[in-house]
Parts: sequence; C-alpha cells; structure tokens
Amino acid sequence: MSPLTRPDLADLPSYIPGRSAPGAIKLASNEVPYGPLPGVVEAITQAAANSHRYPDMGVVELRETLAARYGVEPARVATGCGSVALAEHLVKATCLPGDEVVYSWRSFEAYPIIAAGAGATSVRVPNTAEHGHDLAAMAAAITDRTKLVLVCNPNNPTGTSVRREELDEFLAAVGEDVLVVLDEAYREFVTDPEVPDGLAAFGDRPNVVILRTLSKAWGLAGMRVGFLIGAPAVADAVRKVLTPFSTSAAAQAAALAALAATGEMRRRCELVISERTRVFEAVRKFYPAVPASQSNFVWLPLGEQAAPFAAACADGGVLVRPFAGDGVRVTIGTPDENDAFLALAEDFWSRSG
Ligand code: PMP
Repeated sequence: MSPLTRPDLADLPSYIPGRSAPGAIKLASNEVPYGPLPGVVEAITQAAANSHRYPDMGVVELRETLAARYGVEPARVATGCGSVALAEHLVKATCLPGDEVVYSWRSFEAYPIIAAGAGATSVRVPNTAEHGHDLAAMAAAITDRTKLVLVCNPNNPTGTSVRREELDEFLAAVGEDVLVVLDEAYREFVTDPEVPDGLAAFGDRPNVVILRTLSKAWGLAGMRVGFLIGAPAVADAVRKVLTPFSTSAAAQAAALAALAATGEMRRRCELVISERTRVFEAVRKFYPAVPASQSNFVWLPLGEQAAPFAAACADGGVLVRPFAGDGVRVTIGTPDENDAFLALAEDFWSRSG
C-alpha cells in the first residue's frame, strides 16, 4: 500500500470479475449469450468515424429516448458508465465521509467497494435464511447517519426478489429522509407479477431512485451504459458529480440502437427465462436449497463446496462464479451451454454423494 493513498483502502477487497478463457463456456458474469442486438454493431462503427470528437456530454438524445420510453421527463434521467458507476455517483451525491449506506448481504459485490471509495460506512444487513433481503432488519438498521439504502431487486447473486407489498411497507418504515435506490439491473427477466416494476410502483416518490442497465437484457455489457430515473433534483445532483463525458459516443450510439430493437430483446429474454426454469428444475433435483430466481442466473448455496464445485466446472470447460464458502452463481446461457453445465453439475453431485 502506498503511503500516498488512503490507509483505509488497504483492507478493501478488489472487485472480482467473472473469469473468461479462450474456448470456455462463460456463465460467470450474468451476460446474455446471444451477441449484440441487430443494428448495434453498425451504430458503433458509425460512431467510430467521429471518435476524434468528444461525445455529447449531456447525452441528450439517449436521455430523451429513455425518458420517452419510460414515460418520464428527461430531467429525471442520468446515464453513466454502467449502472455501477451511477451507484457510485449516488453515494458521492448523498454521503459525506462517515455517513452510512445500508444494503443487504450478500448482494452485489460492488456495493462495499463504491461505499468505501466515497468514504461512506457500509452497513450490511444479513440476508434471510432463504437468501433474500431482510427488509425489516434493513429498515431497523437506519440511523441518523444513513443517507442511502440499496435494494437490489432481483438480488445479485442470489436471484431472490422482494414483493410489492414488502417494499411498500419498507418505504413507509424508511420515511423520506433517506434515498432508497432500487437496483433493477435484472428487471427484464422478472416474470412474477408480485415483484414490482420499481419505476411504475414507486418511481414518483422523491426519495426513490430506479437504477437500470443496458448490460444485461439489452446485451451491451461491453459498452458500459447504465441509467437512473429519480426526482429531477436527485438526477441533477448525480449529473453534477458524474465524471465528464463518461457515457462514450460509441456507448450512446449502441444504446440507441439497442433500444430500437426491443422486440428482439424481449424474444431473447423469453429464451433465457425458459432456460432459467429448465436449469432451476434440474439443479433443484440435486440441491433442493436453490432459491427461485427472477433474474438470468441461479444461486447454488453450496457453502464450503462452492470453490471445489466451480473448479470442477472450470476443469470441464464451464466458468461459473464462486463466492468462496458461500455459493456459486451460474448465469443462464444458451441451451447447449446450459446442458454442458448441467452435465458437469450432475457429475460433481454424483461424486460428492
Ligand atoms: N447492479 C447489479 C445488481 C448488478 O448485478 C450489476 C452487474 N453485475 C450492476 C448493477 C452493474 O452493471 P453495469 O455497471 O454493467 O450496468
């Protein structure tokens, strides 16, 4: 650790990306397996011709397109270099050093990193025995120092989700002095009508921000485009702390092209959703503790077997995402990819009894 940098960063774990390797099947990063949507590559190529110019810093066309699509004013929309950057900017826009950010744990592994990066204090509230958010405990964890609560719905990496009624109660308990971020990175994969579309259900509340991404269902993980919808004053504060020009020209063009291909995006999501059901039912036969998933991955709460299970999958050419001592997250791939994973899983379970 350099004496020139903050000493508290010494203990901060680094973000661990899902592994990839040539020739391997990658089911490690919750990407969709089908390649860019139609029109995306062409849009990026066209944007490349102007790459000696800065992008539109106001991201006007994309923000207007998103606003029209989701039925809100453009002033309520901010875009960023992935939704993870927006989550970071939300912490920056709300917390002074020592202020608290509450989230469930285990949840998205970037949360502790972005909180610490902004000098905020993480308050992690353990998940329920069913691997979901304990919203009552999260509400109870709020103090005078709490400025932000992150609710990941569906939750990464467990795939669990909270229902509308539960969120209603939670928001009532939290009150209006704390900003609540509904991180809906996996919203497009939700099929349970009880799991609310946060924007439709709570988007008009002044202390609620909806965080979405084009990395997952929209297939643009490599382009880095996320967006948030919040009260105009909150979106404005976020835009002020954004790294200037952080939504690149290629990212803006790719996002506009992807958004124009909604029908194909939905068709691909339906494929992922039907494969999710198949994979879930198959893994449940071996491992009944697997929670139902509303996202494009399943969570295997394997405890100490997480690392050996992931290693066995990697040896067989399938990369999944282990969380040592806790569980393994497996992204839903194409039917063939899922078959390859299920064969390895079956083999592992038959050997480990
Ligand atoms: N939120 C959640 C819950 C996620 O799982 C992810 C990606 N793994 C993100 C946000 C960030 O996605 P991106 O920065 O690619 O938009």
